[in-house]
Amino acid sequence: MESRNYIGGEWMTPTAGELVVPNPSNTQETVGLVHLSAKEDVLQAGDAAVAALSKWTSMTPGARGEVLLKAAQLLEARAEEVAHLASSEMGKPITEMKGEVKRGINLLRYYAAEGVRAFGSVIPASQQQVLQYTKRVPLGVVGLITPWNFPIAIPIWKLAPALICGNTIVWKPAENASLSATALTQVLVDAGLPAGVLNTVIGQGSVVGQALMDEVPLDAVSFTGSTQTGLKVGEQAARRNIKYQTEMGGKNAAVVLADANLDIAVPAVVSGAFTSAGQKCTATSRVIVEAGIYNRFVAALRDAVNELYVGSALDQKSYLGPVASAAQFEKVSAFVDVALREANEVAQARLQVNPASGYYVAPLVVDGVGVQHPLVQEEVFGPLMTLLPVRDFDEAIAVCNDTVYGLSASVFTENLHAGMRFLDEAQAGMVRVNLETSGVEYQAPFGGMKMSSSHTREQGQAALDFYSQTKTCAVYYG
Ligand code: NAD
Repeated sequence: MESRNYIGGEWMTPTAGELVVPNPSNTQETVGLVHLSAKEDVLQAGDAAVAALSKWTSMTPGARGEVLLKAAQLLEARAEEVAHLASSEMGKPITEMKGEVKRGINLLRYYAAEGVRAFGSVIPASQQQVLQYTKRVPLGVVGLITPWNFPIAIPIWKLAPALICGNTIVWKPAENASLSATALTQVLVDAGLPAGVLNTVIGQGSVVGQALMDEVPLDAVSFTGSTQTGLKVGEQAARRNIKYQTEMGGKNAAVVLADANLDIAVPAVVSGAFTSAGQKCTATSRVIVEAGIYNRFVAALRDAVNELYVGSALDQKSYLGPVASAAQFEKVSAFVDVALREANEVAQARLQVNPASGYYVAPLVVDGVGVQHPLVQEEVFGPLMTLLPVRDFDEAIAVCNDTVYGLSASVFTENLHAGMRFLDEAQAGMVRVNLETSGVEYQAPFGGMKMSSSHTREQGQAALDFYSQTKTCAVYYG
């Protein structure tokens, strides 16, 4: 397969460069070819999005919803094919990727229905015979910048609410999710999206992302990716005074209290840390354990880690596959080296494949480092879990909050009081009791505090707030 741009209703092959995409599960195998765009392609996409705006905005939200519903049906029909491509491109196990595609279908259906739901309020006026009400109007042209770790769901959780609110889009997918982005664009095109409403521009962040932020007449931008890039995007958006949203990194903690039910806590911690090979913004990477249960927890965790099946992403049995790319492999391996050198190894899973065949990193659990150690403070974005023993609940909360990030946090306890205190005191946008740190549902707000986000939220009704603006209207009919 080859990636293509979709601009102004036309498929195009940009010519600024090429990237061969190896399969991260088996790097001898080529999945496809990515054609990279130049600045001129981005500018053309911006012009197309501006030109399409009035037609798309003047359609009723119900009619826009019909397109999203059709896209949901088409994605459902192509779910196997899309999941297979995305798993091959970025290495997420096929069973998990099918779940991600299903999430995308649900998001399309959810936002399709928003086209016929109430979208404003009537507010009593102080003068008689005045009708005062609010309505939501589109922002205009919205730039979407997405990462590779959820190649289907993240783009849809931005595209679908942006479209139902009446915006047109320039979308810049991550370099190593470009084939999946081409397939997803095809679904929306086949669903009948008018020309120019969605413009997909494939290429590098430093070229396409930069030109999008610098030169396209955007009215808003929604970004998901690293904190480093997100802060830059936020700065550029603030300078232009356009609405922006940046969803960024995490260093999420799971707290295991002495009264935790280990049958719940251990699988949830393992799943939080190791599904998607730890490459989720909400992945569990710090596990804070009360001293009274430490040894029992470690014993149960070791057993669970020993049973993990680490194999090819296309193997149905794989609990986790490789990391996504050569760059990811290098970055995560450097953290693993530090962990093996400076921490104590608690458990490490065995690989069920030849390690040299792909970007495989064996899941690793360590302890014996202090709370200021880089393993505890920096986002690893790989299958590495650090255990931090603590005396009691108060210390657990202090350690949990001792990070610049604030995306998600969980506590495992049978004690209602402790669970509720945790929900009050943990500094994270998504806080959970007896549930893993990842897995917040699509119909609920998603986002972080502190350096994890611009303090906006995605998904659920929150996305409609972002992708629209409020007009306050008043009519005197006396
Ligand atoms: P990244 O920041 O490297 O890239 C994200 C996107 O930004 C890519 O499309 C990239 O090409 C683009 N980009 C790069 N430089 C740019 C520039 N100068 N201007 C504009 N765009 C530019 O992140 P990544 O490696 O793709 O994704 C992993 C990161 O994403 C992790 O930090 C993870 O925590 C985060 N993430 C956050 C969430 C969330 O909702 N909070 C969800 C998923 C991933």
